[in-house]
Amino acid sequence: MSNIRKNSLSILNYYKSIGVESHIQNTSRIRFKNYLYEENQKELMHDKLTELKKKIIDVDCKLKLKTKNFVFYDGILTSNIMIIGEAPGFEEDKIGKPFVGAAGKKLDEMIKAIGLDRKNNVYITNIIPWRPPNNRPPTEDEINLFLPYVEKHISIINPEILLLFGNVASRSLLNLKEGITKHHGKWFTYKNPFLNKKIFTICIFHPSYLLRSPNKKKIAWEDLKKVKEKIINLKVTI
Ligand code: URA
Repeated sequence: MSNIRKNSLSILNYYKSIGVESHIQNTSRIRFKNYLYEENQKELMHDKLTELKKKIIDVDCKLKLKTKNFVFYDGILTSNIMIIGEAPGFEEDKIGKPFVGAAGKKLDEMIKAIGLDRKNNVYITNIIPWRPPNNRPPTEDEINLFLPYVEKHISIINPEILLLFGNVASRSLLNLKEGITKHHGKWFTYKNPFLNKKIFTICIFHPSYLLRSPNKKKIAWEDLKKVKEKIINLKVTI
């Protein structure tokens, strides 16, 4: 948080602590309250994510021995749209953020087509936080090791809509027997063990797959249009 925002927040918190509930100004009191709520919410989430990060880094997993960086998340903490991919690749490992290489550029392009972007309205993470050697697919054991942490991660972000990119995220979180070719573009209601609500969830072809198979772009576009429709129908704030 910037120093100006921190100072403004502490002044507002001070007013609140001495019982000031309203003040004369051109803008409404509701905005004053919302601002405080949002800032406090972000700080709370940040603390929870820091705690989760420590726990994940401590997980006994050989993958981390061969990597440069822990790859946790990118995007907006208070977003209602959460994207989950598979595992970091070379560029992600180098920089320490998910989806920053070629697949990341493709992902940005895909979500931009439906009015979303990581600087304003989505939150992005992966099932696996460390790059598997030579970008091999993660094993079942590795997926199962990190899955409970991904579930905790989802509960902290508490999104309205979950986009699962690729087979690994789709099959592991939705417990699917068949792969993404069968289930892409369908809506599921994902039940998170830490949340008392169901989350609208859709499986979308992984951007790396689309880079290898551009003839599947049209299908992915149809699936993305369903996300846009859902955002509109549910009146999800983005
Ligand atoms: N592929 C993924 O699934 N995640 C990344 O972060 C990068 C590529």
